[in-house]
Amino acid sequence: AGSRIGVSACLLGVRCKYDGTSNYAESSVKALADRFTLIPVCPEQLGGLTTPRPPAEIMGGKVVSKEGADLTAAFERGAEETLALFKLLKVEVAILKEGSPSCGSSLIYDGTFSGVKLPGAGLTVCKLRENGIPVISEKAL
Ligand code: SF4
Repeated sequence: AGSRIGVSACLLGVRCKYDGTSNYAESSVKALADRFTLIPVCPEQLGGLTTPRPPAEIMGGKVVSKEGADLTAAFERGAEETLALFKLLKVEVAILKEGSPSCGSSLIYDGTFSGVKLPGAGLTVCKLRENGIPVISEKAL
C-alpha cells in the first residue's frame, strides 16, 4: 500500500477506549486500509494507562481524571511514544479520534466532565503538529 497514515487504534476496532470499548462502528477510517498502510496507536495505553481507565479531560494545561488525579505525565509519555513510532515508521499524516484529550484535533472536552466541547487539541495531536506531522479528525474524512 502507499502512504503511511497514523490512526487511533480505537477507530480500527481495538477496544482501547477508557470504558473498554472501541469506536469501530462509527468509523470510516477502516475503509482506508485497502489503499494505505495504517499505523494504529493508542497514546493513552502507550503512556502506561490501564484499560478500562477513568475518563480524563484537559483543564488548565493538565490532564485530570474524573476523580481528580493528575494524569498529565502519562498523557505526555503517550504523546512522546506516539511521535517516536510515527517518526520511525515515516508516518506522513495522522487521522485521530476527535474529542479525546490525547487524539482530539479540533475539539476537546472543557474539563468539567459535563459533555461540553471547546475548540482545542489533545496532547498527542499538539506533539505531532509541533514535530511537523499533520493531524486531522476522522470526522474530516
Ligand atoms: Fe482512541 Fe486515542 Fe483514546 Fe486511545 S487515546 S482510546 S486511540 S481516542
